[in-house]
Amino acid sequence: MSEWKIPKGRRACASCQREFQPGEPILSVLRDAVVEGKPTLVRDDRCPACETGAPREGALSHWRTAAPRPDAPKRPRIDEEAVAELFRNLADDPDPARRPLRYVLALVLTRRKVLRFTGGEGEGEARVLLLEERATGEVHRIPDLPLTEADIDRVTDEIRGLFQGDV
Ligand SMILES: [Zn+2]
Repeated sequence: MSEWKIPKGRRACASCQREFQPGEPILSVLRDAVVEGKPTLVRDDRCPACETGAPREGALSHWRTAAPRPDAPKRPRIDEEAVAELFRNLADDPDPARRPLRYVLALVLTRRKVLRFTGGEGEGEARVLLLEERATGEVHRIPDLPLTEADIDRVTDEIRGLFQGDV
């Protein structure tokens, strides 16, 4: 698996380091980075004052959110379009370590009816799933993986952490 680097605890602006106030608008950007020699997905959160002119190269997904209020009943539902953006940007990623992530992103998007399973091709390790974007008709070919329920749960938890929300 790729490594993940998710800030824990209180969230602060990646540029000015100021801690977000409850309800404050945040722009979150996912990008690829190399951390300790490993390809890693990193999330940068920025406050409104810092988001203009912030580096976007290597951005794999972005979305707008707000810093949670202390009385928030639960984590927000993850923005579907942000998940779809990450999925599209990883679609041609040749790194085999990214396959479980792509597979589970496809599962999440199929459950949420952004993608539609239209069939499979090939056998065994060469088997791919054909997934069509309902909105555009674009077909993605995702290697089928023999993931266990535990594998899927683990990657789903990583996606929740990455997006700071529930799938
Ligand atoms: Zn800032």
